[in-house]
Amino acid sequence: NTKGPRLPSYLKKSIPSGASFNKIKKDLRGLNLHTVCEEARCPNIGDCWGGSDTADGRNTATATIMLMGDTCTRGCRFCSVKTSKAPPPLDPHEPEHTAEAISRWGLGYVVLTSVDRDDLIDGGARHFAETIRKIKFKAPHILVEALTGDFQGSLEHVSMVAKSGLDVYAHNVETVEELTPFVRDRKATFRQSLKVLEHAKKEGVEVTKTSIMLGVGETADQVVAALKELRKVGVDVVTFGQYMRPTKRHMKVDRYVEPAEFDKWKQIAEDLGFLYVASGPLVRSSYKAGEFYIENVLR
Ligand code: SF4
Ligand code: SF4
Repeated sequence: NTKGPRLPSYLKKSIPSGASFNKIKKDLRGLNLHTVCEEARCPNIGDCWGGSDTADGRNTATATIMLMGDTCTRGCRFCSVKTSKAPPPLDPHEPEHTAEAISRWGLGYVVLTSVDRDDLIDGGARHFAETIRKIKFKAPHILVEALTGDFQGSLEHVSMVAKSGLDVYAHNVETVEELTPFVRDRKATFRQSLKVLEHAKKEGVEVTKTSIMLGVGETADQVVAALKELRKVGVDVVTFGQYMRPTKRHMKVDRYVEPAEFDKWKQIAEDLGFLYVASGPLVRSSYKAGEFYIENVLR
């Protein structure tokens, strides 16, 4: 069987709508910002962009922005981002332009992420940190999450980002330890990712976060073991979503995990002490991140 299992109906989602969604979308015009939400045609865009205002003057609308170009120096088997050993150089104006655009957009929570840039001396850490500092300078009320790569295990570069004034440091382990060599680029290891998350916490970041795809071939015991390792290094937040195969050149889906099983993982992770957990077939690591953060951390 080269196709893998059939797509269940709960993975098909309707086109978003709603007043807040339309406003965020309209405001985006002319800002020259590239969102992962739109470019990846994320099915959650209605839920994330359609945030609501809170009593203390914040809003929960969340979007994800990709920094440092569209070309990655790595090639993970689940990911459709294009790959090159020598991507184009960084745009030195990107931190300023991004911060300016984000400060004029009506978001409450922004996730900054990037491709992996192993070609750069600092892996892009300085660029990340500069963008965050500029956002916080222009718009201190916007909550900022950085979703970074592993900086090839360079803790100095993790520190640069961790000390930039962000609210959440996220780095995705993506899968259980046993499957990491088959799922992620060979430069990535589960242990190295744990060290990144551990170090961010040591540097004083209040909330650290990671994400695991289910349906890749992992066993329940392996998932529990991974969660325990993550808790040992103080990771606060975990999200679970279904692995979806981007094209036939990517690794196969092993199985579609039922919504009830996602609920079970949420419960297990909460019992292990995670502060909050997003879990569901369509959940991505940035799913409704603003709403979850405001409800669980600022409450
Ligand atoms: Fe954007 Fe992430 Fe929400 Fe998808 S899950 S719409 S990428 S913020
Ligand atoms: Fe995709 Fe990230 Fe892997 Fe690059 S490092 S191939 S962007 S998942």
